[in-house]
Amino acid sequence: MSSLKDNITTLKKDRNALILAHNYCLPEVQDIADHTGDSLGLSIIASKADADVIIFCGVTFMAESAKVLNPRKKVLMPEPFATCPMASMCSAEQIIDARKCHKDACVVGYVNTTASAKAEMDICCTSSNAVNIVSSMKEKEIIFVPDMNLGSYVASKAPSKNIILWNGYCPVHQSITVQNISDLKAKYPNAVVVAHPECRSDVLNAADLIGSTEKMIEYAKASDAKEFIVATEIGMKHRLSKECPGKRFHFIDHALCSVMKMTTLSSVLRTLNEMTTEVTLPEDTMERAKGPLKRMIDVK
Ligand code: SF4
Repeated sequence: MSSLKDNITTLKKDRNALILAHNYCLPEVQDIADHTGDSLGLSIIASKADADVIIFCGVTFMAESAKVLNPRKKVLMPEPFATCPMASMCSAEQIIDARKCHKDACVVGYVNTTASAKAEMDICCTSSNAVNIVSSMKEKEIIFVPDMNLGSYVASKAPSKNIILWNGYCPVHQSITVQNISDLKAKYPNAVVVAHPECRSDVLNAADLIGSTEKMIEYAKASDAKEFIVATEIGMKHRLSKECPGKRFHFIDHALCSVMKMTTLSSVLRTLNEMTTEVTLPEDTMERAKGPLKRMIDVK
């Protein structure tokens, strides 16, 4: 393992590469990354990166966003078939059709979407800024794609808006039930419950804090509590445990995203060696997807 890491470190310097890893990646992949974070944080870092190459450890929509925000850079994905199932639940054509049915509505889209879907949106959002973004729109009617759980949560926080929900969801967060939370609460009665807004509304109702992965870290650091039940993907345990020493974090065992776990140290090393696989997008798609992403970053 250590020689894999050493080889990655050496080659990374030779290639002048920047390695970005999402919070849900394998612990050892997070450890060799220059930056680990959520979609918004990584998008902003990607947009300002001056390295020659960006190696994106995560899923395809994230690497596409990095390319759109910094098109002159070579963006490489160690696992180009790591595709988020939620992103596949909303296509560009479906958004165009939805606009025809709701002519006065604007489209706010979660970053967990393909670049071609982003090209049809008015603005993007992440789980950390979705409420702010929706509240900032002048339109009352908002088509919110693709996550119905995040959309419902946003609707509860922005009651003056008429949110039209999409039928999409993250299978990992959707699989977390209130019973899972109750079972952990019975084992760890003093634990505070934190939940990601991609969870179902009944799970969110059982939480002490609802927030993005970055907000969870902030909250756990500041909290007097020593134990937490965390309703999100299990990869978050690594950063929480590292950044909050002395605190314990309990996860739901089945909350594991298999596509996020596809990227390994071996695949990162292979990518650096072979300089594959490059993310490429049509110029027109990149140009049109950039607007909604940039607008999101400006509202942040
Ligand atoms: S955790 Fe959910 S939203 Fe994130 S990549 Fe996996 S399936 Fe997609």
